[in-house]
Amino acid sequence: MSNPRPRYSIVAPVFNEEEALPEFYRRTAAVMEKLDGPAELILVFDGSRDRSPDIGRELRANDSRIKIINFSRNFGHQIAITAGIDYAQGDAVVFLDADLQDPPEVILDLVAKWKDGFQIVYAQRAKRKGETFFKLFTASLFYRLIRRLASIDIPPDTGDFRLIDRKVALVMRHLREHDRFMRGLSVWVGFKQTGILYERQERFAGATQYPLGKMVRLAIDAITGFSYVPLQLATTLGLWISGLALLSIPVVVVLRAVLGGEFFGGQATTLISVLFLGGVQLVFLGIIGEYLGRIYDEVKNRPLYIVTEAPPKPKDEDES
Ligand code: UDP
Ligand code: MG
Repeated sequence: MSNPRPRYSIVAPVFNEEEALPEFYRRTAAVMEKLDGPAELILVFDGSRDRSPDIGRELRANDSRIKIINFSRNFGHQIAITAGIDYAQGDAVVFLDADLQDPPEVILDLVAKWKDGFQIVYAQRAKRKGETFFKLFTASLFYRLIRRLASIDIPPDTGDFRLIDRKVALVMRHLREHDRFMRGLSVWVGFKQTGILYERQERFAGATQYPLGKMVRLAIDAITGFSYVPLQLATTLGLWISGLALLSIPVVVVLRAVLGGEFFGGQATTLISVLFLGGVQLVFLGIIGEYLGRIYDEVKNRPLYIVTEAPPKPKDEDES
């Protein structure tokens, strides 16, 4: 109570960004000056193995608005954002990457929409600079797939760069699922949402921390987290194949009667259909496995992250 809450919380997940961090701080601090109220900058060090946390502490020595959360190991980008929500105290909470791909200046545009009464303002990429063709292609494929499969309407070309109102943050704090797709969750909660366009920049330094493997994992998390369609596909495909098999019985009988003898059959046909069906069944076992593994993760109910350093955790009650 005695400690007044800041009006804005800016949350940045940081994983080995020692080169970008000073510049990120410089530009973000400049934006914080332009905001119409006090702001805190929460740096979530996601198990950085370089000097990033030291740089963060040096910055904090000169700027008490900086808060540091340090994870005991790398828990991943989505979990780092989650920790940011858990600790953020502002009336509005903004997430952006620390590699300067999300320009901090855009925060002012997000805030303007928030003041217009929107409770979630996401930043949509009008352009993406300095990304490989492969990344752009896989990203567009992903957004299309998730829009088709998911039960919620996730805006395309939208990353985690967004502003959420404190009311939304308090709701999202209660969503503790382990395989998290934050963009999906922030749509799932509802509220008044809108987007703004911005130009995604090149990385300030270093290379992406999202290699193909991690991207595929995130995509599967997104799909399994918001859709049963992959599971239901087995039913549809099974019905089609059984129907086809049933239909082929009279066809074969008639053809045999008319043509007689060995018009159809042979080892190759048998082998191919057995392999085909075996493959289909294995694929669906794998899909069931994806869901089952995630259920197992939930049942184990381990904490989402472990901190070695963090500010006092805000109380969870809803005060407006
Ligand atoms: N990041 C993180 N943990 C990770 C990977 C990335 O906290 O395991 C941070 C990273 O420091 C950056 C943001 O998340 O601030 C986005 O990561 P990155 O730039 O590597 O992804 P990309 O922009 O290439 O999709
Ligand atoms: Mg990046």
